[in-house]
Amino acid sequence: MENRFNQVEAAAFVAARPDCSPVLALRVYTSRLLGREPELVLHGGGNTSVKERTPNILGEEQELLYIKGSGWDLASIEAAGFPGLDLAWLRRLRGLPELSDEEMVNQFRTHLLDAAAPNPSIETLVHAFLPHRFIDHTHADAVVTLTHLPTPEKHLRAALGEGIAILPFIMPGFPLARAMVELYEDDPQVEAVILLQHGIFTFADEAEIAYSRMIDYVTRAEKYLAGQRTPGNRSQLLPSEATNSASEASGAEAITTAVVLPLLRGALSCVDSAGVRRYFSLDLRDDSVLLAALARPDAAQLFGGGVLTPDHVIRTKNYPLLLNLEPGFDQEAVGVVIREAVEAYGNRYRQYFIRQSQAAGAEKIMLDPSPRVILIPGLGLVGAGFSPKEAAIAADIAVQTVRAKLQGVELGPFLDLGEEHIFAMEYWSLEQAKLGQGKPALLAGRVALVTGGGGAMAVGIAAKLLEAGARVFLSDRDQPRLEAVAARLAARFGAANLGTVVMDVTDQASVAAGLGQIVQTAGGLDILVPNAGIAHVARLEELSGADFARVMAVNCHGVFTVIKAAIPIFRRQGYGGQVVINSSKNVFDPGPAFGAYSASKAAAHQLGKIAALELAELGVAVNMINADAVFAADGIDSGLWEVVGPDRMRARKLDPAGLREYYRNRNLLKAEVSAEQVGNAVLFFAAGLTPTTGATLPVDGGIPAAFPR
Ligand SMILES: [Zn+2]
Repeated sequence: MENRFNQVEAAAFVAARPDCSPVLALRVYTSRLLGREPELVLHGGGNTSVKERTPNILGEEQELLYIKGSGWDLASIEAAGFPGLDLAWLRRLRGLPELSDEEMVNQFRTHLLDAAAPNPSIETLVHAFLPHRFIDHTHADAVVTLTHLPTPEKHLRAALGEGIAILPFIMPGFPLARAMVELYEDDPQVEAVILLQHGIFTFADEAEIAYSRMIDYVTRAEKYLAGQRTPGNRSQLLPSEATNSASEASGAEAITTAVVLPLLRGALSCVDSAGVRRYFSLDLRDDSVLLAALARPDAAQLFGGGVLTPDHVIRTKNYPLLLNLEPGFDQEAVGVVIREAVEAYGNRYRQYFIRQSQAAGAEKIMLDPSPRVILIPGLGLVGAGFSPKEAAIAADIAVQTVRAKLQGVELGPFLDLGEEHIFAMEYWSLEQAKLGQGKPALLAGRVALVTGGGGAMAVGIAAKLLEAGARVFLSDRDQPRLEAVAARLAARFGAANLGTVVMDVTDQASVAAGLGQIVQTAGGLDILVPNAGIAHVARLEELSGADFARVMAVNCHGVFTVIKAAIPIFRRQGYGGQVVINSSKNVFDPGPAFGAYSASKAAAHQLGKIAALELAELGVAVNMINADAVFAADGIDSGLWEVVGPDRMRARKLDPAGLREYYRNRNLLKAEVSAEQVGNAVLFFAAGLTPTTGATLPVDGGIPAAFPR
């Protein structure tokens, strides 16, 4: 592992932060160097600290500990991510006979320098009790891998030398902090402490030395692991034949992401104790190294074990689910295997929970029993979570875990950390206390597709779906328009839950590819909003067949293609879904010179009713929104009105402002309809708040001639 410390860069980093003490700025600098290495820390893992004497508000010298706060990632940490604590007070806590986790956190919060600071790391007392100015702690893969082997001490000594002390696994908290400092005081010459099945601490009075020791010891562990491989083993580790057999397996008709991911998503989804369905996001990783690793004959034994470091259990649960899908399986067989495997995983999890909560003698609330990491030889590794972010974190950690376990394969079996330790971490009282406090967002975990994504309507609809927590994909055949809308939405809601798909709704192959892309990215689809629409102004006498066909292709055939392509996804997920068609006030109240538009919209509307009849057996509701003229939203013009507006203005002898006024005045409530109001109506149906299907909801300010009937 490369030592990235650079004197010039460090000095510039400190100089660029004049508001921050140089010592703390240097702490931020080397923390980020550690955070850059996925082999050291991932997603909030690891922590660092620095001690400093500064005058307090009364001008008295005070000794402070700055330690990484929870919620911060070492890769991107700032000085604000290091809450300062009264170090003298923390050191006095060492004299207590015991200290519960709750009281420990209370002591942290009541001895902060800044009352609004984030919670200091759970490992704060380790940093406080050790005397060194700079302390670095990571969950380095290579070191942790050695600690999971039989006879870890032997390997650690051989790999790292005599400058280390070794501590058996102890849960983070007061007892660990005391054990660490006692170990250090027994031998003050040690440069690093290895915590079995957890990680490594290095320390020094200089930032560079603490950091360099970390890199040095981790490099020694990496070299030791590499040195244990006999020549030729590298290729044996990742056999090229395995890649071939993997691709052969994935060539089987039913074992494709298009089939497997929605089936998996359906099997994972569960109804929580409050009766609310929870939806999973999936994140597939399928690079060739991973596929080759999963194709190894010993994959189950090698990768089926527990986490590398107990931190990970919160993100990945202890065990992955291994799904062996035989190449000859048809779709039904794949579905059965997946459902049974997920169910069996859940049953094992419940047994583990009952066993451990009884052993702990504490009342705990069971977390959902679904796996967070699914290994599918031939297909890849799937991270699962209640949001795209959670799924990505689970996948990142799992990929790193597969790599780490591969490195240790020559040295013996990977030994799990005992399940009582895993349980203690997974059901830590402070984590339990947070349960049930935050109600999930209305559409949390759900995946939506809005077609016609380059227009004003899509802005309003997507805004409301994003606001409600859905992951939204916008599709359009016009990529620049699509990107303009996506950029606007990303500026308001962030990009994490937003995706774009270039797709032509009039072309079944293009639609199939587009929905395939969504399944590949998110795992499935829950909400379909056929929204693409075009218009053409011409009386029948002047309307060309080509123009009529063009409007019909988008407004009617384009609704058919997306519904048809979504049905297999809904069927595989098996828990229903929502289709909300953006129809038109014209369906009930057509206008002259608007034949192609009105007829195509009426046909699509009828198609929606047929879909409502046919898809009810899948639990899929299909409803229609009849909106009147929406001109623009959030600076994006309606593509439809750009085309229609000038003709309509000419027909009514009005300027653009006059046209908007005209449409407002023609409805009962004198309302100008906005895209966000249409979005509200879509949201109502998308959330499935009422058992309604085949219905039409007007969003038009009230036009008697367009009342649904
Ligand atoms: Zn740790």
